[in-house]
Amino acid sequence: MNRMLRALAVATIPAVLGAQDAPVVIRASAALDGRGGTLTNVSIVVVHGRIDRIEAGDAAPAGARIVDLRGRTVLPGLIDVHVHPTWYFNRQGRFHTRGDGDTPVQEMLAASANAYATLAAGFTTVQSIGSLEDRDLRDWIATQGLPGPRILTSLQPIMGGEPDQLREIVRERKQQGADVIKIFASASIRDGGKQTMTDAQLAAVCGEAKAQGLRTIVHAHSAESVRAAVNAGCTQVEHGVFVTQAELDLMAAKGVWFDPQCSLVFRNYLDHRANYDGIGNYNAEGFAAMERAIPLAAEGIRKAIATKGLKMVYGTDAVAGAHGRNAEDLVCRVQSAGQRPMDAIVSATSLSAQSLDLGASLGALAKGYDADIIAVDGDPVRDITALRRVSFVMKGGRIVRDDGRPGGK
Ligand SMILES: [Zn+2]
Repeated sequence: MNRMLRALAVATIPAVLGAQDAPVVIRASAALDGRGGTLTNVSIVVVHGRIDRIEAGDAAPAGARIVDLRGRTVLPGLIDVHVHPTWYFNRQGRFHTRGDGDTPVQEMLAASANAYATLAAGFTTVQSIGSLEDRDLRDWIATQGLPGPRILTSLQPIMGGEPDQLREIVRERKQQGADVIKIFASASIRDGGKQTMTDAQLAAVCGEAKAQGLRTIVHAHSAESVRAAVNAGCTQVEHGVFVTQAELDLMAAKGVWFDPQCSLVFRNYLDHRANYDGIGNYNAEGFAAMERAIPLAAEGIRKAIATKGLKMVYGTDAVAGAHGRNAEDLVCRVQSAGQRPMDAIVSATSLSAQSLDLGASLGALAKGYDADIIAVDGDPVRDITALRRVSFVMKGGRIVRDDGRPGGK
């Protein structure tokens, strides 16, 4: 190769962008397909960022890089449909708020670190709900080589206003590049969780969003606020700590996605009390309310699991202190709420992908799907805590983490 050609070749190396060009073959002794099935002794052939095919035995196309994940459990990249990557603790160890002296650059660096921690923990797709900064974070990860999960975002949430103003805000969010609309229909759990938006307001937001082709995600704790969101035609209900069987049945009947949190968000606040204490409603009363929510949340999930036809997705509401620990609610669901491990994994893979309208490309190990593939040490179907031991992460065909086999190669 002459000098000029070599220079050209160097210049056109896709570097960290795009997928690896040579096929990659992942050898797996056990792979969960994200839909409830288990594959044994297979080769997953990845070409140009996608799963080209899955073959029995040891496939080895010419020129392929072989990645041996035998002895671990392989599964689709996990999905968390409710995170807050821009929330962080500043260098004084306090929850960052505007006015604490951090610059916009520092805010973005912190958000990038959170995104990286989330990806390294095996979460290859997240939905942030949400803040304006998510837009740049999402785009830099998608197109500029910043390591992080795929991000969908609501940008800033909608809190209130006259119905006409609300419809206008929905159209504005779409213009700004929102992937989804986030609405607060009830107060925070720290303030009792009562309904704060009227039925007419909810109908305006969810109706306009539907007309604009956007999904709607509604923060709702009280039973009445959940009912109002469902009746307004919204797409997904978040939290629902105070729901009764009637609202669970209603969501199931109307095909509304339900995203309850098991315990990570509450425990994270309680474990980081000193970092949050004294800011806004992070006070003695607020912490007591979160303490009380823990058994209620597990009980609610137990009921949700038993509700026929209810589509329960996986969202942790990861805030400052919780990024990278997103798998903890899967452990909680199995250990505290009695969910079958395989069902918990399906919830955080194919089911969550469907809720994002990405069920045809994400959340499963299947031909044609994006090559978002992780491996954990151990078998999460027998011991859900194996999800804490992520040792391999591939996103869109690129290996972003590979710790090697437990005990060395
Ligand atoms: Zn949240």
